[in-house]
Amino acid sequence: MKVIHFRRPIGHPKGRPVDADARDRVRVLLGEAPLRRDLLIEYLHRLQDAEGFLSMVMLAALAQAMRLASTEVYEVATFYHHFDVVADGQPPLPPLTVRVCESLSCRMAGADKLLNSLSDLLGEGVRIQAVPCVGHCDAAPVAVVGRHPVRAATSEKIEKLVQRALGGETSARECPLPVAPSYVQARAAGAYDTLIALHAGERSPQAVFDELDRAGLRGLGGAGFPTGRKWRIVSAQPGPRLLVVNADEGEPGTFKDRHYLEQDPHGFLAGLLIAAWAIQAQDCYLYLRDEYAGLRALLERELTALEADPPMPREAMPRLHLRRGAGAYICGEESALIESIEGRRGTPRLRPPYVAEVGLFGRPTLVNNVETLYWVPQILSRGAAWFASHGRRSRVGLRTFSVSGRVREPGVKLAPAGISVRELIDEYCGGMAPGHTLYAYLPGGASGGILPASLADLPLDFDTLQAHDCFIGSAAVIVLSQADRARDAAASMMQFFRHESCGQCTPCRVGTAKAQGLLEAPEWDQPLIAELSQVMMDASICGLGQAAPNPVRCVIKYFPDEIRAIPSSQS
Ligand code: SF4
Repeated sequence: MKVIHFRRPIGHPKGRPVDADARDRVRVLLGEAPLRRDLLIEYLHRLQDAEGFLSMVMLAALAQAMRLASTEVYEVATFYHHFDVVADGQPPLPPLTVRVCESLSCRMAGADKLLNSLSDLLGEGVRIQAVPCVGHCDAAPVAVVGRHPVRAATSEKIEKLVQRALGGETSARECPLPVAPSYVQARAAGAYDTLIALHAGERSPQAVFDELDRAGLRGLGGAGFPTGRKWRIVSAQPGPRLLVVNADEGEPGTFKDRHYLEQDPHGFLAGLLIAAWAIQAQDCYLYLRDEYAGLRALLERELTALEADPPMPREAMPRLHLRRGAGAYICGEESALIESIEGRRGTPRLRPPYVAEVGLFGRPTLVNNVETLYWVPQILSRGAAWFASHGRRSRVGLRTFSVSGRVREPGVKLAPAGISVRELIDEYCGGMAPGHTLYAYLPGGASGGILPASLADLPLDFDTLQAHDCFIGSAAVIVLSQADRARDAAASMMQFFRHESCGQCTPCRVGTAKAQGLLEAPEWDQPLIAELSQVMMDASICGLGQAAPNPVRCVIKYFPDEIRAIPSSQS
C-alpha cells in the first residue's frame, strides 16, 4: 500500500521556492528598506511597470520580501483588473495593450465596431482588451494605447499611435500631462487664501461646519451625505483621525472629478487641506483611479511643490499620500477603498462600525469625494448664501453633470441643482445630436436606473428620483435616443456589474451572473427577473449589488414593449 505523507519533510520550506534572480529583481525595484504591508498595491504596480506583467515567480519573491504568505500577495494581485498575472508556463504578454471602452456611451458611439476593426488591423505585439469606462465619455468612443487615452477614437488614430509606440516613442504610450496652473501660480492667485485665514484663526472648525450646513453642500461622489454633518461626526471621534479622498470615480458616464483635477488641482487641494485642518487629520490619503495616469504625474509634481513650501505653518501641514488604484470599480465604495489603501482586496466592510468611527488603519476616517472638497474653499470665501442661491424647483446648490450620449455637446456641465434633463440638454448641451430625439436617459450612471423621455421634466437632485426607482448618484447623465433601446442599456450595465462585483456575497456575485443570462433572452422572464432583483436588493452587502437591478427594473416598469420577444426580422 502506498503511504501518503501529509507533513512536509523537516527543513523543507513551505510553499513555492523563491527564485534567486526574482528576489534580486524585487530588491532592485523596491529598494532595501523594509517593505510595508499597506503599500502592497504600490509595489505590485512598480513591478508590473518594470516587467510588463506579474509572473508567479515575482509574486513569490515579493511575498517573501514582505514576509507574507504567497496567497496574500496572489489574492490582491488577481483581484484588481489592472494587474496582469501570468501563470507558470504561459507566454509573456505582448509589449503593448490597447484598451477599448465598452461601456454604454462608447457602445452607442460604435465601440463594438471599433473593437472588431482593431482585431484585424493590429497584429502581433499588441493585446486588445474590452474594458469598462475609462472616464472620457464625452469623447466616445474611447481607447487607451498603453496609458495614452485616445478620445473620439478611430481605428486610424489608434493604428498610428500603436506604430509610434512600437517604434519606441514613449509619448505615444504615456498619458500627456494636463495643462493646469502650477502651485506657485495658484497660490499667487489666492487659491490658498481661505486656508491661510483659517490657520490664522479667522474661524473655528465649528463655524466651518455650520457654513457648509448653510450652503447645503452634500457628498458629490454619489451618496449625498451632508458634508458639514459628516465633518462634525468625524471631528468628534478620538484622534488620531485620518482623511481619505475618493478620486476613484469609475461609475460609467462619470468624468467630472477628472475635469476638476485637470482644470484646477489647487482649488481641490485647498479644500483637502481645509478638511484636514477642520478634523485635525495629520495624514491624508488621495486614492486616484489608475486610468488617470496623466493626472497622477500632475498631482505628484504639485504635491511635491506644496509640501516643499506649504501655505500654512510647516508644523501644521499634514502628510499627503498619493495612492494609485488598480482598476476596480468597487473601490469607489468607501470601505472597499480603505481596504485597498491598506493593501488588500477591495471588498466592502460590513457596517457598523462606520468608517467615521473605525476606518483606515482602524482610525476614525473622513472620506470625501474630489468635487465635494473642490467646493469647500469657494463656499467659505464666497459665503454659503452664494452656493445656496443656485437651484431650481426648491433645490439648493450647484451640481456638476457629466453628460454623454446623444447630445450635441457632451461634457461637464455645471448647472443648478433641480434642473431637469430636458433643460440640461437644451440649455447646456446645445440640444440633442442632429437626427436624434430624446427617448430615455440614465440620471445617475450605471446604478441610477433609466427613465423615459416622458419623465424628462423631473428635477435632477438627491432625494427626488427614488420614487421612480432611480437616483442621481454622481450625476452621470447618459442620453438615449430613438436609435437606442433601454433593454440594451440595462444589459450592458448588468454586464458591467457582473464584471465589477467583488464576489464577497452570493446575491451579488451569482445574482449579476444569472441576471446577465436572463437579460440575453429574446423575451424577458419578468417574474424570475423581479424575484432575483428583490433578492439582490435585499441581501447584497453593499450598494453595488443592491443597485445593480435598478436599470432592469426600470426597463420592466417604463419600457414594457422592449422586453417582449422581438420578431427575428427586427432583431
Ligand atoms: Fe461585493 Fe457585490 Fe457583495 Fe458589494 S454587493 S460586497 S460588490 S459581492
